[in-house]
Amino acid sequence: MDFSLNNEQKDIIKAAREFALGEFPDRAQEFDREETFDQGLWKKACELGFIGTFIPEEYEGMGYGFFENCLITEEFWAVDPGIAQAIISCTFGSELLILFGSDDQKTSILPGLVSGEALIGTAITEPDAGSDVTSATTTAIRNGGDWIINGAKMFATNGNLADHMIVFCLTDPENPSRHQRHSFILIPTNTPGYSSSKIRGKMGIRASDTAELSFSDVRVPIRNLVGVEGNGFKELMAFFNRTRLHVSAQAVGLARAALEESIKHTKKRRQFDAPLASFQVTQFKMAEMATWIRAARNLYYEAAWSVDHGKIDHALIAMAKWFSAQMAVRCADEALQMHGGYGYIDEYRVQRLYRDAKILEIYEGTKEMEKTIVAKSLLA
Ligand SMILES: Cc1cc2nc3c(=O)[nH]c(=O)nc-3n(C[C@H](O)[C@H](O)[C@H](O)COP(=O)(O)OP(=O)(O)OC[C@H]3O[C@@H](n4cnc5c(N)ncnc54)[C@H](O)[C@@H]3O)c2cc1C
Repeated sequence: MDFSLNNEQKDIIKAAREFALGEFPDRAQEFDREETFDQGLWKKACELGFIGTFIPEEYEGMGYGFFENCLITEEFWAVDPGIAQAIISCTFGSELLILFGSDDQKTSILPGLVSGEALIGTAITEPDAGSDVTSATTTAIRNGGDWIINGAKMFATNGNLADHMIVFCLTDPENPSRHQRHSFILIPTNTPGYSSSKIRGKMGIRASDTAELSFSDVRVPIRNLVGVEGNGFKELMAFFNRTRLHVSAQAVGLARAALEESIKHTKKRRQFDAPLASFQVTQFKMAEMATWIRAARNLYYEAAWSVDHGKIDHALIAMAKWFSAQMAVRCADEALQMHGGYGYIDEYRVQRLYRDAKILEIYEGTKEMEKTIVAKSLLA
């Protein structure tokens, strides 16, 4: 297996890094403190071709693999995770449409996601259904030629901004199999009965919008079913097998930023008449971080490469996701430690990285759920 990057991939990395370095650093602290974001940055990223690169060319995307999207994700996160997430998550759900959407859904929605005219989200989690997605109770009931949706969702990324939300709904509650009771339904967010409210006070990635959603007799046509009725759980797992690659790339980007800050700070800061970087204990911390980053990147490279080559290895993807996330949390912790008291203050970027890192172990499957997937594959 050869993971050396071709020239096009190297150019993608270079362009993504230049864009992020040019646009993110000056705004990062403000967005974090205010829990806001400038949608103009997302539009700019779309104009420059960074968004939806994995969307097929026939729907105005670039037709790259998920691997290339991971490269962009890593570079954006290496500059600022909050802004990166606000931008990159704007296509969260397009993977479902690519895999399972009807021609009509793909044609009417995907081009707008690439051009920056529209934004999408996917809502699975509910107040009482998190890791156990099969306990989701938001219902979609057939009524003539329509679905009528009632219920609530929690923690929906872009819930206040999205034009379309793909919602995981209970469509066959009596089915004896918990894995055949749900289906995905596409809901335009201007449909009467859809409402959202912003969740404030997040620990990290505060530039990214997170919402609580409620559906009260939301009526959409039957054709808004995404995929096959009753196959929602299976489709969700296929979706996560793509999006978890991105989380792994996010983690590698964040950990790189943590290492960069550590190197910068420990070369400059002197104690006991010497730079912190001259102490072996500091050097070992940085050597470990560099090694963890490399190991995590190799995992996601292999996982993404496999997906793009039609080989879906659930366990490998789960390994890449939990390992990278845990690695990023550790790197951010070590980086803050090397900053001492300064790292505890939000003027220092490392404090933000420390806070931004934790979500990686939670969303799109907690690290415990990922390890469960790995363990199941070992014991099968
Ligand atoms: C900022 C943010 C953005 C998000 N974006 C989205 C989004 O766009 N769409 C969406 O649908 N969701 C989103 N989520 C929700 C996220 O995916 C869930 O928070 C996550 O899946 C965990 O669910 P939970 O919070 O209900 O925790 P719980 O499921 O209640 O888990 C709590 C703890 O118990 C552990 N646990 C649970 N069951 C087991 C078990 N069987 N064995 C061992 N340990 C277990 C978990 O690992 C975790 O540590 C987002 C969350 C956040 C915070």
